[in-house]
Amino acid sequence: MSRITELRNLIIKAKHAYYYSGEPMMDDAEYDALEDELRQHSPDDPVLKIVGAQVPAESMLTKARHSIPMGSQSKVNSENEFRTWCQRNDVGPIHASVKGDGASAAAYYSNGRLVQAISRGDGVLGEDITANALRFKGLPVWVESEGRPFNGAVRFEVILTVEDWTRIDPSRSKNPRNAGTGIMGRKNGLQSDFLTIFAFDLDESRDGTPYNFATESEKTARLAELGFSVMPHTHCSDADEAVQYFKTIAQTRNELPIWIDGVVMKINAIEKQVELGVTGGRPKGQIAWKFDSAGAETVLEGVVVSGGHTGGLYPTAQLRAVDIGGTTITNASLANYDEIARLDVAIGDSVWVVKANDIIPKIIRVTERPAHRRAILQPACCPFCGGEVGRRINVAGNDGVIIECRNLNCEKKSTGKIRRWIASLDILGVGDVVLEAMVEKLDLTDAADLYTLRERGDELADLLINVDRDLKLGAKRATSILDAIEATRELSLSQFLGSLGLDHLGKRRVEIMISAADGALDELTAWRSGLLRDASFAAGVGVPSIGAEIQDGIDSMSQVIDKLLDAGVSITTGSAHGTAEQPELTVCISGKLHSGRKKSDYQEPLLAIGYALVDEVSKGLNFLVLADADSGSSKAEKARKLGVQVISEAQLIEMVGNFTSQESVSKFELPIQTSIVSKPQKENAMSKATTPLSVDASARRFEFVDDKSAKFWEVDVIAESVEVKFGKIGINGQAQIKEFETTDAARKHAEKLVHEKLKNGYQEVVQGAYQKVSQAPAKPVPAPVKPVSVKAKSSPAPEKSAPSSKKVCISGKLPSGNKKADYEAPLLAAGYSLVDDVVHDLAYLVLADPAPMSSKAEKARKLGVAVISEEDLQVLLHTNP
Ligand SMILES: [Zn+2]
Repeated sequence: MSRITELRNLIIKAKHAYYYSGEPMMDDAEYDALEDELRQHSPDDPVLKIVGAQVPAESMLTKARHSIPMGSQSKVNSENEFRTWCQRNDVGPIHASVKGDGASAAAYYSNGRLVQAISRGDGVLGEDITANALRFKGLPVWVESEGRPFNGAVRFEVILTVEDWTRIDPSRSKNPRNAGTGIMGRKNGLQSDFLTIFAFDLDESRDGTPYNFATESEKTARLAELGFSVMPHTHCSDADEAVQYFKTIAQTRNELPIWIDGVVMKINAIEKQVELGVTGGRPKGQIAWKFDSAGAETVLEGVVVSGGHTGGLYPTAQLRAVDIGGTTITNASLANYDEIARLDVAIGDSVWVVKANDIIPKIIRVTERPAHRRAILQPACCPFCGGEVGRRINVAGNDGVIIECRNLNCEKKSTGKIRRWIASLDILGVGDVVLEAMVEKLDLTDAADLYTLRERGDELADLLINVDRDLKLGAKRATSILDAIEATRELSLSQFLGSLGLDHLGKRRVEIMISAADGALDELTAWRSGLLRDASFAAGVGVPSIGAEIQDGIDSMSQVIDKLLDAGVSITTGSAHGTAEQPELTVCISGKLHSGRKKSDYQEPLLAIGYALVDEVSKGLNFLVLADADSGSSKAEKARKLGVQVISEAQLIEMVGNFTSQESVSKFELPIQTSIVSKPQKENAMSKATTPLSVDASARRFEFVDDKSAKFWEVDVIAESVEVKFGKIGINGQAQIKEFETTDAARKHAEKLVHEKLKNGYQEVVQGAYQKVSQAPAKPVPAPVKPVSVKAKSSPAPEKSAPSSKKVCISGKLPSGNKKADYEAPLLAAGYSLVDDVVHDLAYLVLADPAPMSSKAEKARKLGVAVISEEDLQVLLHTNP
């Protein structure tokens, strides 16, 4: 485009924007400068003489007649059909251009100026879209060549490019064709400047007579020369080349900046096209080869369940064999059980099956429902492992449409370990949805496959992460994920082993074991040598009784470890780095020890090997030490249920190494100090919210009771997952697990849910208090802690009624026969003060039976005060006066 033409285009577009759209393209000074420049080049320029608006304001969308009708093309759907067309018409060289998936229209030019643009309509009568077209990209409003203004018509496709689509509709809710067509037909012109045209046909008149182009190639070159953007195209010397071009386009269509639905093939020689003529409005010399979306009718003979790597259970239709586009189809996707209900499809029905491009065939509708049809039933358990099934929670946190197996160890799943690898190494950008899509669609089987994704970047970018919205991952996110994966190619031994997702083997544990082994575990080969089966070696590196289990885990991952190394993951030697965010390893010592040692005696040595001493058996505890490791005590039971290792004192001694009895500090202070330092402080922080007894790793329970219903809702955050349980009070209820990328995200989600429940009238109940009422499993009950004898005098009692002390009110007769006063000293020792009234800043109200709705209990709950039993109080204080 010459500078003059460019100036004319800019001026006309700016004028139009100013008069018509109310969205000026530039300020007055800029505009004046353009006119001045044009005036210098061409003092009497016709464009300078244009006055006022380009198009009447009311013309938009009025009916308009095409001066030359817009034809349509015959379609073919397969190579066979295409070759038939080639042979029948003896085509010769072919001009092939991609077929944009947009709306077509024509623009008419007179003496260089765009005078009217008309949508295709029925080919003869369309709608005037001039006002919007003046703002389209790629459509010049002033056209000339070698000083001669252009006269004629240009036909084009109006397209919203993927880039612009993403810009105006980031959630990509509508596909670009619908979004683009919507914009094109807007009366107010809004967003018209986001549309791009791609010209594909031209009628040019020179000196008042139609100009005859010799070939399609010549025509396309002319369009480009005149300043129109044109569709990607190529010249093929024969049918074979055209077939090759089609295949290349079909494979790379997703990399194109626009959505396309096929390739338009035109006999290059226009004379030949004219010779062949037109049938039924369709020129015989042109054909649209559409990507295969052909369909056929067949009978649904059965449904089998196939299992995805993520545990999804997908119904697959078994079809009576049918030919679609040259391939025999015997099965098809039924998506999910909701889709089955929506289609109202049953076994025995006649169905319409389509094979959409490269996607597997799909049943899109039922064509006949015979009387003998059989309903398609949802699986009642996992067909692969027999595990429990349920609906997968979707991104919004609701029940999704996919039925999934809930068994974490289901043989069909490979998501779990990859997820642990990703979370452990902080690979950002791969949430559950993305991971599941990756595993499912890219067929990842283990973490090592992550490192081969670099070569499959296009597939990754193309990954459909929301089928309903047709939302793809996109190149940008794909690149950032690949970069994040790439950044984990060099790992320390602890990162490597600790991220494999093995039981008992997190990063921190590996670090501790390496340092305890004093060089014996510095190399990966040592870990794979079977060394850990040696019980005394295992005990020496802090894993008594589980060494063999860890070794089994490592051995079972042998193939994956090799695969990771082969994929280029390397292990950097040298000292392992400790990470502060790592959860502490914990040990709980319970009951009287045979040696006569106190718990506190073990505190220092345990700390030295990275373990903290805690008082409670809870999820995440690493070891419970009991005098009798085989004990069937409730504590031991609970520990086993939670997967906590129960060990003997002898094993503990092995674990802490060359241990010599330390001076015991004080017989009385330590236990209570531990309790002051660790537990109540946490509770203090929590009690500001309405969550007084919330203890990490144990479920919080909420109940809602009115005339009609009595239901409960429990939430528990375990590592990165949020476990929710709900149902009628008195029954076990339904469980749902939702996983997050980080513990923090899981916690936040749980907090949000709690907030919602409270808003909906649920009341938090203290765990244990309702145990008699509901028959829920024992999980949430605080473990009965063996009373520790406490003498108040020897405790460092905080000052009475210190302003920061939390208040506890004990009301009514206590079941134990203890008096209120008996609790005063232990409460003080633990930083609480005993008060007589239920007040707003009360931490706990202690009642003989917290369940009934006494007025005092009512008031307490209203104030957000936790109502607890005497037993709970004792647990809280670790004491029994
Ligand atoms: Zn299963």
